[in-house]
Amino acid sequence: MSIEKIDHIGIAVESIEEWLGYYRDILGLKYTGSEEVPEQKVRVAFLKIGESQIELLEPTSEDSPIAKFLKKRGSGIHHIAIKVDDINTALARHHDAGARLIDKEARVGAHNMRIAFIHPAASGGVLLELCQEPS
Ligand code: ZN
Repeated sequence: MSIEKIDHIGIAVESIEEWLGYYRDILGLKYTGSEEVPEQKVRVAFLKIGESQIELLEPTSEDSPIAKFLKKRGSGIHHIAIKVDDINTALARHHDAGARLIDKEARVGAHNMRIAFIHPAASGGVLLELCQEPS
């Protein structure tokens, strides 16, 4: 199992429309599109930054995890996604070490990536997302 890169940094916002202008037009990142991820009740917009991306996350429902995050903490960095070449092995390693997981098994995220979240308690207070390219 190897770590490839920071795939993206997820930033929770109330409205993608409100913040896309900053990231695309003022900061100058290349906007590569957006999509809805119904399983997570979010809409996501991607902006390319070198080999990585900024992922803007907007809740699509009141009970979305992002809506809860915004209510509690306001907009800001929500998670850091780390790309691996073998998410199952990465999850097994966490499980064996007793590290707290949000997802015990990988599920499908934006761009059909296989993803799983690690609980912030396991990683010093940062919500980490593991992701792997779909095969
Ligand atoms: Zn993400």
